Formats: sequence, structure tokens, C-alpha cells
Amino acid sequence: MFNIILFGPPGSGKGTQAKIIEEKYDLHHISTGDLFRYELKNETELGKKIKHIMEAGELVPDKITIEMLKNKILSFDNPKGFLLDGFPRNNNQAKELDKLLEELGEEVNVLISLDVPEEEIVQRILNRGKTSGRSDDNDENIIRGRYKVYMDQTLPVYKYYENKNKARTVNGVGDIDEISNRILCAVEEHNKK
Ligand code: AMP
Repeated sequence: MFNIILFGPPGSGKGTQAKIIEEKYDLHHISTGDLFRYELKNETELGKKIKHIMEAGELVPDKITIEMLKNKILSFDNPKGFLLDGFPRNNNQAKELDKLLEELGEEVNVLISLDVPEEEIVQRILNRGKTSGRSDDNDENIIRGRYKVYMDQTLPVYKYYENKNKARTVNGVGDIDEISNRILCAVEEHNKK
């Protein structure tokens, strides 16, 4: 299997790029944010439990998130690999992911981080909020709060994989195609070493 983590702050373009990269490598795209939004939309028990957390831009507790991610990964027959988007969001999630993949005889191959400055992030998400229907995309305070959660809790995940020589950063500002190319180059370069 070939497993990629697409990393970066909210609004850095992970979802957009994931659609391009998953096709290129024939991977299953798993976005924990999308999985949670599905639960919200369908007003499931889980959806009701996490609604206020997501609206506040906080992280859903690890126990719930990791359980959901595990079930999703295990639901595929003979996958070629996974493209994870929005997971792991902290070091505990990263360790649990590594443990799960190890049990499957697999590993995270590479983490690609999209580098986008905070002001650009805020503008992009406010723009997305005009059509996304996401309440967490409409309020600048919540957006800045999500960015802070990223800086405080999620950024250490980069170091975690960097220590394993698996992390790469690409410039996340530019045309969509240009950024896809940077990601593909970074993956290929990483695979060569
Ligand atoms: P995203 O679409 O990735 O920006 O995620 C939207 C929201 O879903 C986040 O602000 C969190 O509330 C929740 N969420 C998504 N992924 C995770 C995760 N790995 N751990 C905890 N909460 C998450």
C-alpha cells in the first residue's frame, strides 16, 4: 500500500488537492471532516454529540475520531493505499494511526504539508463560507480559533513524522495545478530516496 497524509491548516487546500492526488495514485481519500459532516447532516447520534464541537472549531475527542478512522480504514478490501486529509490532528492520533497500520503490515509513507500564511487562510475560508454552508467557515473568530488549534495541537504532528524522515513541505499558494505538481514532485522525490 501507499499511504499519504495531506497536511496543513484548515483552508490550505487539502480537500481540493486530495481529489487530484487520490486519482493519480489510485488511493482512497479519507477526510475525517467530511465523515463528521455526513454524521451532522444525517443527524445521527454521533452527529448530535459532535455538532457543538465542530461549530466551535474545536477538535472532536480522540476516542471518537480514532474509532471512526479505524472503522473506515478497515472497511476496504485490498486497498492500494489511503490519502488522509484532516487526520491525524495531534500526536496521539498519529501514534494510533501508526499502530493500526503496523498491525496491517503497513506504514505512513509520506506526509505532505501545504504551507499557506494565516491571512490567506482566513480570506480563503471566508470566501469558501459563502457557498460551503459550513457554519465554521463564516465567522472570522472561529476561523482564527481553528488556525490556533492547528498551530497548538496539530503542528507537532509534522515534527513527529519529520523525525521519521517522512515529512515534506510544499508552497500551498498559487494555481491549483501548480500546487498539485509541487505535491507530486515532493512525493516522487521522497520515493526516490
Ligand atoms: P476539516 O474539514 O478537516 O477542517 O474538519 C472540520 C472539523 O471536524 C474540525 O474543526 C473538527 O471539529 C472536526 N475534525 C475533523 N478531523 C478531525 C480530527 N482528526 N480530530 C478531531 N476533530 C476533527
